[in-house]
Amino acid sequence: MDKMEYFKAIRELFCLNGLDEPSDEVAGKLYELSDCLLTTNKIHNLTAIKEEEDVIVKHFIDSIFLSRALPESSSVVDIGCGPGFPSLPLAIYRPDITVLGVDSTSKKINFVNLAAKALELDNITAISARAESVAREKEHREAYDVATARAVAALPVLCELCLPFVKLGGLFVAMKAQSAEEELAASKNAIEKCGGAYLETIELELLHRKAGLPLEKRNLILIKKIKHTPENYPRDNAKISKKPL
Ligand code: SAH
Repeated sequence: MDKMEYFKAIRELFCLNGLDEPSDEVAGKLYELSDCLLTTNKIHNLTAIKEEEDVIVKHFIDSIFLSRALPESSSVVDIGCGPGFPSLPLAIYRPDITVLGVDSTSKKINFVNLAAKALELDNITAISARAESVAREKEHREAYDVATARAVAALPVLCELCLPFVKLGGLFVAMKAQSAEEELAASKNAIEKCGGAYLETIELELLHRKAGLPLEKRNLILIKKIKHTPENYPRDNAKISKKPL
């Protein structure tokens, strides 16, 4: 797609998905991000999604859906951000927020920092590290208004990885596809142990413009931080995977 076609596609797809029409600046930055992602992807496999329109729907709009759950000017940590989803589209769409991306794969974090620089985004940084160790650093512990994760692990594991980052009164928002209800039922213990309380689930539908593609269900599971997370959480990776809460 050339830039004109891209702007048209992005406007139609935002509208179809119930999002406000993006400004020229937002559309332009998403266009640059798509270009940067698909070009880099040819050398360093970053995403399985290789077609521009699919990137708009499955990466950009899906990421931006999270905006609904983000208070004005909030600080957000994106655990297992991979090549910047949801963090990069959110930083573009919501200049009022600040975002930290955390991922253990350095080539993905290098991409996030490179894209942030190329797009002149000053509200996002990314670090290459495991969430379990970052959560133990004073600077990051209970320091964020919102922690989120998309496509990283089952909800009980995510509670242990994400809730330690959230301030009292803040939110952990898990981005989940179909399995939300079952996962929530299996996470009661993990939510409670890590100081959370289930608030609500926002149900969304991700719509495509192409004929014949079914809508995809999306859920934002909101968990409020009501108590401090005990110091022994998160445990190390071996313990988390062997015996999830
Ligand atoms: N959120 C991105 C990437 C999902 S893939 C997206 O939706 O496209 C899952 C990512 O989580 C991988 O990049 C992996 O490196 C990272 N990850 C899994 N467990 C992690 C942990 N404990 N700490 C940091 N990163 C982790």
